[in-house]
Amino acid sequence: MKVCEKCSELKNVSDFREDKRTKSKISNICNECKSKYRYGTNFHKLYQQEVIIEKLCPKCQKVKSIEQFGKRAKKVPYYRKNPIYYNSYCKQCVSELTKKYRSRK
Ligand SMILES: [Zn+2]
Ligand SMILES: [Zn+2]
Repeated sequence: MKVCEKCSELKNVSDFREDKRTKSKISNICNECKSKYRYGTNFHKLYQQEVIIEKLCPKCQKVKSIEQFGKRAKKVPYYRKNPIYYNSYCKQCVSELTKKYRSRK
């Protein structure tokens, strides 16, 4: 039996994962707490993905479904948790703009 550092509960050794960095060779945090912790770190990401459903295009002034906006992955510092950005203009406006740009030249 072992006490988890996070929840201070006495748990079976089988509830702890192997961890070679510790003296006991078993993780100090139980699997349950570990999964909670993992969920916690991903929560921001999940929340962001769920929340963005629609977006206002400043070009056509229409609220459109997020699928109408192109996604782009930016290179961001590791501490930024959400590497996915959406284009500010909708796909339709972007294609219109690129057409205009091309015809000008
Ligand atoms: Zn625990
Ligand atoms: Zn638009």
